[in-house]
Amino acid sequence: MQGLTMDMPLLTSMIVKHAAVWHGDVEIVTHRVEGDMHRYTYADAYKRTCRLANALKRLGIQPGDRVGTMAWTTYRHLELYYAIGGSGAVIHTINPRLFHDQIEYIINHAKDRVMFLDTTWVEMMEGMQDKCPTIEKFIILCDSGKMPETTLRNAVCFEDLLAAEDDSFDWPEFDEKTAVALCYTSGTTGNPKGVLYTHRGMVLHAIAGTSSDHPLCISSRTVLLPAVSMFHVHGWMAPYAAPISGTKLVLPGPNMHGDNICRLLEEEKVTVTAGVPTIWIDVLQHLKKTGGRLDTLEICNIGGSAPSIAMIKTFEEEYDVHVVHAWGMTELSAAGTTGRLRKRHQDLPAAERYKVQQTQGRPLFGFEMKIVDLDGTPLPHDGEAVGQLYVRGPWVASAYFEDDAATDAAFDADGWFGTGDMASVSSDGLIRVSDRSKDLIKSGGEWISSIDLENYALAHPDVMEAAAIAVKHPKWEERPLLVIVPREGAEITADAVRAVLADHVAKWWLPDDIVFVEEIPHTATGKISKKDLRDRFAEYDWPEIADTGD
Ligand code: ADP
Repeated sequence: MQGLTMDMPLLTSMIVKHAAVWHGDVEIVTHRVEGDMHRYTYADAYKRTCRLANALKRLGIQPGDRVGTMAWTTYRHLELYYAIGGSGAVIHTINPRLFHDQIEYIINHAKDRVMFLDTTWVEMMEGMQDKCPTIEKFIILCDSGKMPETTLRNAVCFEDLLAAEDDSFDWPEFDEKTAVALCYTSGTTGNPKGVLYTHRGMVLHAIAGTSSDHPLCISSRTVLLPAVSMFHVHGWMAPYAAPISGTKLVLPGPNMHGDNICRLLEEEKVTVTAGVPTIWIDVLQHLKKTGGRLDTLEICNIGGSAPSIAMIKTFEEEYDVHVVHAWGMTELSAAGTTGRLRKRHQDLPAAERYKVQQTQGRPLFGFEMKIVDLDGTPLPHDGEAVGQLYVRGPWVASAYFEDDAATDAAFDADGWFGTGDMASVSSDGLIRVSDRSKDLIKSGGEWISSIDLENYALAHPDVMEAAAIAVKHPKWEERPLLVIVPREGAEITADAVRAVLADHVAKWWLPDDIVFVEEIPHTATGKISKKDLRDRFAEYDWPEIADTGD
């Protein structure tokens, strides 16, 4: 027997319409690419989104066509999210920090017809446009009369395009399984892989994003600053979840440096922010230097890679900001777990609580997770067994976009998605990611977690950033090399770091050497690039063959 609820498709246009009607006066504030501040409301955003949808129609964009964006976290990018997807086309958010050949690959693979881009990347695209023949038109996200001189073909000014259109639009209704957005993973090995999201998955995940247990911690009382690029996994869902709740958005544009983030947090009275640990290293350093405070900030959501206990402790004890850790990935639409504390963890003594906060948390509703060994046999949730983490759920990718080889490699026979992460699950349901499987260090047949080594090293007050990588070793196959960026002006020795590590890890885990560098390379999504470090230290000469026996 079928139930009798209305069969209304879940489409992203519902979100922007809802925000315009019910949260119309709530502000969206942007630090623009032009350098000034821009303020308007959800009602204003809606009108411009309608104009843009009309413009897309006039440009001949058909349902299913891919429309590329190369844009920062701004109000214009927000309008593009809703106008493109809502009108039935597919927004392809491109990470401009990828290598040029990867950008060319994804534009051609996606067959983008039109490209909207911030002025920041006009010159770069001029050099690449001949290799991207599917793009018919470039639309530059700039004010009227402020078009840069450019050789980009059929270049048009975004504001001129909008000015010519009507500010109402008849949003089409279609199957909720229609594609809405396309995002490529950064592809540290091989070509980037495309994840093609459905309206249904996106709306469901956005609704989940408004739950009080979600790591974004948003509500209609929240002021949210996503310190996350909108080209990185939909800015962690903030642009889709915030309009549902009527959350005030503070968008940092191109400037995600510590000083600008701190300024925005203070001036806009932000209550929740989110970003990768690299951003917070910069923010905490800036605060230390300037004596700044985080008076209105209540919650900092950290994800993308693991924060150290030292970072969690600094936020909590020096700035009275609660850290909510989360784990996620492009293939999951954004977050898969939440570090929102349960009652029993909330009441733990601080040192114990930080250990809970350092885990990747527990699965959000909507995800099923399992850890399995190399044969696919499920492993127990005893906090000890480490296995490959698989997930499934209504907003998890079911295949990669037009890439059978990558799909076959990532999905098991039952359709579960293999995340490529190694994890354990404790008896009280907390997930601990020990590594990406390709970053684990294999020493004498045993595994060493690079994340654990890094976190313990970061407990030394003079260590600013740390990365543990596997380097070939004549006796043990691989051994850990620890690469450290010391704090400015600090005098630090390898022995001092080793002493901190020795308090926490078995002797055979201790890195055989520690090198100090001025800078560690980062990926296009702001995480430590282990691949670049491994390349750099591939021929590393160990100081001596270490005795790692315990
Ligand atoms: P990219 O590959 O560009 O970093 P993703 O954001 O999709 O793109 O990366 C997802 C991966 O990031 C995960 O598979 C995991 O390895 C890592 N990751 C994400 N969040 C965390 C976290 N909280 N702790 C440890 N690793 C994380």
